[in-house]
Formats: sequence, C-alpha cells, structure tokens
Amino acid sequence: MSHLQSTSGESFPLHSLNWRGTDGSLLNILPASSFDPADIKPSSPASLWRYRTAMALPEEVEAVSFQEGFTPLIPIMWAGKEVHLKMDYLFPSGSYKDRGATVLMSWAKHLGVNDVVQDSSGNAGAAIANYATLAGIRARIFVPASTSPAKLVQLKAFGAEINLIPGSREDTAKAAVKAAEGNFYASHVWHPMFFEGTKTFAYEICEQLGWSAPDTVVLPAGNGTLLIGAFLGFQELKQAGVIDRLPKLVGIQAASCSPLFKSFHGYSKGSTSGTMAEGIAIAEPRRGGQMIEIVKQSGGTFLAVEEEEIKESLLAMCLKGYFIEPTSAAVVAGLSQYIRQHAEADEKIVSVLTGNGLKSSDKIQKILSH
Ligand SMILES: *Cc1c(COP(=O)(O)O)cnc(C)c1O
Repeated sequence: MSHLQSTSGESFPLHSLNWRGTDGSLLNILPASSFDPADIKPSSPASLWRYRTAMALPEEVEAVSFQEGFTPLIPIMWAGKEVHLKMDYLFPSGSYKDRGATVLMSWAKHLGVNDVVQDSSGNAGAAIANYATLAGIRARIFVPASTSPAKLVQLKAFGAEINLIPGSREDTAKAAVKAAEGNFYASHVWHPMFFEGTKTFAYEICEQLGWSAPDTVVLPAGNGTLLIGAFLGFQELKQAGVIDRLPKLVGIQAASCSPLFKSFHGYSKGSTSGTMAEGIAIAEPRRGGQMIEIVKQSGGTFLAVEEEEIKESLLAMCLKGYFIEPTSAAVVAGLSQYIRQHAEADEKIVSVLTGNGLKSSDKIQKILSH
C-alpha cells in the first residue's frame, strides 16, 4: 500500500488530507507503482484509465471520468524534421490538466469530500471545476483579479465558486491555502495524486510507439505538472523493464519568466516580466528543485523562447490546422529551437500541444490583427 512522504522524510497514510508536511515540505507518493503491459486487457478503455494499475489508487476507487486521454500521437514535419506531437489540447476542458484532474477528483470523491479548494491562472482551475461538476463536488477556485474574463466564463459555466484575489499569482495562492485549511486542497502543484494522472502521458507515448521510449520529449516547464508526471511514468516503465532508457526531457520556459532556465544554466536570476504564455509564467515554481533534478537526471536541458518566437509558432501551427493557445505555442517554439540547435539526425522526438486555442481566442485575435 502506498503512502504520502514529505521531502523531509515525514510519512502520512495515503488517505490523509495532508497536502504538505508539517514543516511545509512537498509530498510525494511512495513507493513507485509497478506496471505490466499485460495488465491492459482487450476490454481496457481507450483512455488514460487503461493504466489504472499503475496509479496509486486503491482498487475500490471509482473513476470520475469522461473516458479522457489516449490522445493521438501524430507525426508532423517541423523545422525540417519528423517529430511526433501528442494532441493533449483535445481534452474535455481543453488542456492536458484533465489528466491530473480525473485522478485527483476520483480520489476526492472516494474520500467523501464535498468541497474542494483550488488556485490557478486558468486551465488547472477549469479542469478541477469540470471534474468537480461530474463528481457532484463543489469547487471553490481562486484566481488573480486580473484574470481575463474569457477564462472566467468556463469556471462560471461549470458552476464553480470564483474568488477573485487582488495582487499577484502568489497572493492568490496564499488565499487558497488559507481557505484550504480543513478542506480538500485540490492543488495541481501540491497534491501528489495529480501526478498519478499526468504520468499517463508517458505510458501513452510508450504504448503508441510500440512499448518503446522516444529519445527526447520536449515539454512545458511552468509548475512542472506534466514534466514531473512524465518523468515518473518513464521511470516506472524503465523499472518495470518495459523500456530500456529514460528519454531526455527538455523543459521550455518563456524567456521573460525563466527562473529554471536561468538556474539550470547558471545565469543570474534577474527579473521576470509578462509573457503571452500565461500558463508557464511561474516566477517561483514550488517544485522547481524537483524539476531541475529530473531534467538533469534525464540528460536533458531547459530552453527559453522569446515572445516573437511564440507568436510565429502559434501562427505556423494554426496554418497547419492546430488551433492552440499561446502557452502551447511556446512549447512548439522551444521544439523548433531544440531541433535547430541540438537534435541529431536520427533522434526520435516527441512534443505536445497542451492547450486549446478556444481558451484564448481574444489573445489570438490580437496576434492576428498585428
Ligand atoms: C498548465 C499549462 C502549462 C504548463 O504546465 P506545467 O505542467 O505546470 O509546467 C502549459 N500549457 C498549458 C496549456 C497549460 O495549461
């Protein structure tokens, strides 16, 4: 039976409502699960729930699910090279955050929770609110007062209680933490059960490649909910002997807000400013240390992309028929940079479209009219 363990060695039962250690440290779920591809039966759903036995969920937990995931892995020519793109902008709420939300909200429902608290700059809140609706759980979502009205519509439509907090993203997080006292904090950053969902990203890629690993995976690096999840998944598959090596993980940041890129390469911290890639505009990622460790261990790197590169990638992807949001385009811009500066001729590269353009059509409109 797995348990929660803090980075400073404290341990809690899996069922506890703790989302951090008593000293404020991060929690992870231990031990790592073991998975056998033979666990997938002909009757297994064509969704991320086909990897159910790899999730740290007790057997009796019922899935709160739209049968999401198992998104297509499509080969395209990009920057002169064939790469595979994972279509994670096709999830019910419009971003890959649903991977974590379906598992975390299944767990919350199993625990008998009636009420969850979450904070977000948009997509994680939408995902939690979406699955809360399905589970019959009330969602209280904290967002910065500056959040664009378009992003609030989705939350409103799902019947979430919206709390607009003046000040920075950090102030919003503080308000949520306060409200989370004695409640279930459905945080995509803090709650380790969220990563039990995002790790299916790695399982899907390996199955779609005939149970083999790509050489390199190019991912967003905001709070690391996908990057950390992907690493956990690849690591478990390696330990199970399903794949023989870990892919290099390449984390993409926006140059104007790139604390991990700077720290990884030894540049001075400097200041951060705004970026159109709002989903990765995280000045102080809570799991930053973990992200740097993971990228190092995988033999990968962090890259930073300029606003102009993000715009170009957005327009180029849209002209190929992929309607993605600017944050998602930042990853594609990083993919171009990686291919041009680092890729080997026979390197097998996978990247991801993380978020749907319908979420920020106002921003895309502005880019088009320039
Ligand atoms: C949350 C989000 C990201 C950033 O992801 P992290 O996993 O937190 O680093 C990237 N793209 C989209 C569309 C997102 O919603």
